[in-house]
Amino acid sequence: MHKRCTIVVESKLHTLKRVVAWIIRFKTNCLQKSEESYSKCLSPNEIHNAFKKLVKLSQAEYFEKEIKLLERGAHVAKISKILNLNPILDTDSLLRVGGRLENSLLTSDAKHPLLIHHKHRLARLIAEEEHIRLLHAGPQQVLASIREQFWIVGGRTLVKSVIKRCVTCFKHRPRTIQPIMGQLPAERLVPSPPFSITGIDYAELQQRTKWKKGTGDLKLGTLVVIKEDNCPPLKWKIWKMGRIIHLHPGKDGVTRVATVHTTTGDTKRSYSKLCSLPDAEE
Ligand SMILES: [Zn+2]
Repeated sequence: MHKRCTIVVESKLHTLKRVVAWIIRFKTNCLQKSEESYSKCLSPNEIHNAFKKLVKLSQAEYFEKEIKLLERGAHVAKISKILNLNPILDTDSLLRVGGRLENSLLTSDAKHPLLIHHKHRLARLIAEEEHIRLLHAGPQQVLASIREQFWIVGGRTLVKSVIKRCVTCFKHRPRTIQPIMGQLPAERLVPSPPFSITGIDYAELQQRTKWKKGTGDLKLGTLVVIKEDNCPPLKWKIWKMGRIIHLHPGKDGVTRVATVHTTTGDTKRSYSKLCSLPDAEE
């Protein structure tokens, strides 16, 4: 198996563990001469060993220097990012947090969690699986649960990013785009008899009282949910999903309206009614 661990974007952790377990079984079958009989299904032990192999590959990629030093019985360098974690190698040569909890009643995994770098794909898969296992819990709970087995270096930022990209969580709190406020229409600025159109003191309207700066933007092809008034976000059969097929910029060049293609046809909506779904490649 190569030293570098390439995990495709679409991987799910449980699938990945099983694939690696099958590869290890195939390799073992090829190397050994005796005809050892295996069951048709993978055993929990095989899956556990496959996972340890994945962790080892990820550690070799990001903590190579630290592992070499510890194998020689030396201390990790003072400039190492994991120096404060007092890293140690276990009997399987896996890098773990040393810490100060040796005399606690915690499990050995919780006392000495496995170290994983947040930039490795495996860390994201662990965080995604834990977030779903905990029924879409928040960052604190997910991170605390992960740390019972793993210490992800830079884990807090990673977990927040995973939750930000979770479509299920997004459905509970959809966010709309807020472009900078546009110019007032002529009907609200040209003098005319009182109440002929509407009664607003235009002097108060010179200031941008809200949305002084635009937040975010929608591009052609973006997948969005169309917000419906007087209807909660989870009524997804009513809140239609669609793709932006046309933008309508104003005179100032700022786009505040878009045409969305949905299953029931095209519809034109203002940005205040469009919620962009999280981008998986973000
Ligand atoms: Zn979620």
